[in-house]
Parts: sequence; structure tokens; C-alpha cells
Amino acid sequence: MNRAALAPVGDAFEESLGAFFGQGLDYVDGAVAELVRAEGERQARGIELIASENVVSRAVLEAQGSWFCNKTVEGYPGARYHGGAEIADSLETLGEDRACALFGATQANLQPHSGSQANLAVFSALLKPGDRVLGMDLKCGGHLSHGSSANISGKVYEIKAYGVRPGDGRIDMDQVRDAARAHRPKLIVAGGSSYPRALDLAAFRAIADEVEARLLVDMAHFAGLVAGGVLDNPMDHADVVTTTTYKSLRGARGGMILWNDEGLSRRLRAAVFPGVQGSPLLHMMAAKAVGLGEALQPAFKHYARRVQDNARALADEMMAQGLEVVTDGTDTPLVLVDLTALEIDGQLASDKLAAIGITCNKNLIANDPRPASTTSGLRFGVSAMTSRGIGEAEIRRVGQWIADCLLGRMTDRERVRRDSEEMARGFRYYAVSG
Ligand SMILES: *Cc1c(COP(=O)(O)O)cnc(C)c1O
Repeated sequence: MNRAALAPVGDAFEESLGAFFGQGLDYVDGAVAELVRAEGERQARGIELIASENVVSRAVLEAQGSWFCNKTVEGYPGARYHGGAEIADSLETLGEDRACALFGATQANLQPHSGSQANLAVFSALLKPGDRVLGMDLKCGGHLSHGSSANISGKVYEIKAYGVRPGDGRIDMDQVRDAARAHRPKLIVAGGSSYPRALDLAAFRAIADEVEARLLVDMAHFAGLVAGGVLDNPMDHADVVTTTTYKSLRGARGGMILWNDEGLSRRLRAAVFPGVQGSPLLHMMAAKAVGLGEALQPAFKHYARRVQDNARALADEMMAQGLEVVTDGTDTPLVLVDLTALEIDGQLASDKLAAIGITCNKNLIANDPRPASTTSGLRFGVSAMTSRGIGEAEIRRVGQWIADCLLGRMTDRERVRRDSEEMARGFRYYAVSG
């Protein structure tokens, strides 16, 4: 093809530049704009109780959509592989400083693209392939990235698990100690995705010391309550702490690693880059920094307290209405309901709740007689609705709706769907259709 044939295309390209830099989504891409609007509407009218969700501030959204998304760097502040990184260095350093201040750490890494990436990096920094890890059984509330056979962690390392006590659904520290003595793991992992209670961090530390293992605490679900001073800080006990930044911590999507021992710094940083990732997502780094800045404000303490109060009120109301709540309550944003005494499985239960405007997720419970595809549990979390301003009276009303629905006492579903929508619309949200 000769260049002359391309000339008109070149003109069209020049002309398109104005639109490229000037026109917004509504104008450029109606199909995606419509889906964005529809999703905003869905969020605004629903009672959102998915435990791994939250609602970020307008400022966090703005940082995510900033031109930091155009910048590529590799490496860490002061030691990058690309030029023009001075401002990115300042951003990453600011984010790390905020993370350290918030959690009383001396070292932080904000580059992990997700919580699972953070965990994979820590495993690969502290372990050799084939090394033994003791973590919480996935079926009892552990996380996929702590050694599920379907996850790389379960393929590369030898995984041993501790569970929960059959009687009260709590972690039995004697069982953890026995398992640690029997298996002599290199790494012990505490924290999970559906364990509603505060961890006995001092006991985990003592067990790790006894068997000369490192201790990793994954605080993904309760990091916001630690930041708000409601729960004990895992940094006081663990060698390394990982978290997601978007659950109760209410920041941008992604992961983060915290530690104090500078002897681990080289290995932990190298495990993230170049170990399991390439360049960091700097626009998400900006949004993480904004979220961490918000969590350092006094108002975040009130938020964290209210999350815990709301979660306890929800658990309390569900029990009062006749549902079985695992561990009879919660210390965290999570409430786990056990459906084994009912006919209904987790899949059907979450479908029924969705039909009255309440979103949550099916979840395995300890010794679940049903498979992961249906389950006998439902997991709820109050982080998102608390961000929108829900209080105890309304969350109790939601608890009643849930119990009525699951226990077959709901006569007029359509009316409750309208009532739940009215309640949801009564709380603050972004102006999604404006
Ligand atoms: C949610 C969660 C993660 C992983 O988060 P992703 O961002 O989905 O990878 C890791 N650990 C625990 C305990 C979690 O709850």
C-alpha cells in the first residue's frame, strides 16, 4: 500500500483528535454508557449486603479516573525502569506513608492488584515450593488464596488446615496448636473470608513462635475495623499483614502488604514486582492513597464503630426472628447464616432475597452437607449500606425481611420489594442518572 492511499485516513485521524480528548462516555459510547447508568441505578435501589462490597467516595472515583492511568512504571520509588516517574514516586510514597500511619507499620507495598496477588506474593517471598503452610480450611471460612487446590497456592505449597469447633463455630486455638505441632509449617495464616469473629491474635503469635513459623494475618474483611480502632491491630502480632483495600477499608479495588521487619523488605517487594506482577496500576494507587487518607480522618472511626454496631444488630435481629447465625453473632462486618435446619439451600435463598431487593451471597458453612455450588449458608456484610448511612432501626427491619423470606412467612413479596427499594433510595448515593 502506498502512502498516498493513506492520506485521507490521516486527515480523519487529525479530525478525530478533538473528540478523543473532548467527548465524554455518553457521547462516544452509548452502549457502555447505558450499562454504567443501569448499574448505578441497580446499586441505588438495592439493599446491598454482599460482604466483600463497599461504596467509595466521589474523591476515590475521581482518582481512579485520573490520567495516572496513562503512566507506566516498573520497580519502586527511586528505583524505576522508566523515566518521568518522579510524580509517580511521590504518589506511591504518599500512599505507603498513609498505610503505615493508619496501621502502625514501618513498611507497606500498595502495588498488589488484588488481595489474592498480595497473598501469592507473600507466600512466594516467605516460602519455597513444597513448603508447608497451615491455614484456615476453605470450608470453614478460609480464602481461596490461602491454599485451595484450585488456586496456585494449593498447587505449589503443601497445605494443612485448621477448622472451627463443631459446637460453637469458633476457631479452636488448641486445635490450631495441635495442628502446628503435628505439621511444623513454615507459615501460619490467620484470617478468612467468612469467619465472623475477632481472631485471637496473641494465641496465633504464640503458636507461630513455638513451632518457629512465620505468621501472616489476612485482614481483608475487617481491615476497616482495625483502621477505625474497633478491632485489635494484627500488626502488633503478625510478621506480615495482607489486606484488600476495597472491603471494610472502603478504598479502591486492590491489595496491600504491611510489615515491620526490614529484613523481609527486599524479598517482599521483589515478590510483588517482578515476582508476580509487572507495572502497578497508578490510577488505582492514587485512589488507594485517597481511601487511606479518608480512613485516617476522625470520621472513619465513627464509620467503623457503626459497621460493627450494624452487623451486631443484624445478627441479633435474625436470631430473634428464628434464623440460625453462626457463632451466635459477630465482631466483624460479617454475618453468616446457617440454613441446614431449613429446606432451602444457599443458592435458592440468595435468589429469593434478590427478588425482594436484597443482595448477598451463598456460602459454605463448616461441615456443609451441600456442595459449593448450592451451599447451606448465606453470607451478609454491612459495610456498603453503612457507607450509605443505614442505622440500627433500618438494618433490623432488613433482618426481619430476610427472616420472613427464608422462613416462608412472607405473604406479599412485591410489597416488600417496593418497601426495600424505598428504603434504599432513602439513603445517600451518587447522582447516577443526573
Ligand atoms: C476478598 C479476600 C481476598 C482476595 O481478594 P481479591 O481482591 O478478590 O483477590 C483475600 N483474602 C481474604 C481473606 C478475602 O476475604
